[in-house]
Amino acid sequence: MVKVNTKLVSWEEIVEWSRGLAKIIKSSGYKPDVIIAVARGGYVPARLLCDFLMVENLLSIQSQHWTEAAKVAEKAVIKFQYSIDLNGAKALLVDDIVDTGESLMLAKEFIVRNWRPKELKIATLQWISPVAKIKPDYYFIEVKDWVWFQYPWTRLEDTCQFIRRMLTEEGKSKREWYLGEIIDKFREWYGIDVGMEYYKEAIELLIEEGLIVRSGDKYLVRV
Ligand code: AMP
Repeated sequence: MVKVNTKLVSWEEIVEWSRGLAKIIKSSGYKPDVIIAVARGGYVPARLLCDFLMVENLLSIQSQHWTEAAKVAEKAVIKFQYSIDLNGAKALLVDDIVDTGESLMLAKEFIVRNWRPKELKIATLQWISPVAKIKPDYYFIEVKDWVWFQYPWTRLEDTCQFIRRMLTEEGKSKREWYLGEIIDKFREWYGIDVGMEYYKEAIELLIEEGLIVRSGDKYLVRV
């Protein structure tokens, strides 16, 4: 049974969704002078929107969730607080998804207060409506049931994190794993298949990290 609801998103879907989002923005009549990508998830959609909307100006803001020492409360922070003047410009703030909406809300507040564009609208590929604290001005897909979208630009990071979580839990009762067993368990836990290259690279990273040790053709979990 799947433990974490996950959906694998392909590059083709990203292009299709970005094209669809651009059409929605265009038909609303909003013509941004500048696109602002929310780092890191908004980079690819923002670049594609520049193409589909013929926008030349692209910049970025890094608004990130960070876990406080106690790891209970999560708070969004703007990482590099540089100053620019967007006076008179119509801006479009772009991210991949609105989940809680915390990072976008913070980015919007920072930009309005410090960069002062004439207008600022938000566009995202996806919007998880039941949990989001904000509704973007433009979105392509409304998600009604929470899912982790495994976007192509975080495939290695996510695979690593997913295997780490899985082996930390499963390693309590089973210490030795063949590669094939790790992959089968991954599919069982997450219901997706990221491909052999990603499994292998993620395992190498977990070996470097010290979570697992190679022993012949097996892997030993150090929990
Ligand atoms: P949030 O501030 O909770 O709206 O989300 C911050 C960022 O985390 C998003 O821009 C995504 O890059 C990532 N993220 C959050 N939730 C998801 C999800 N359900 N699937 C994929 N990525 C997500």
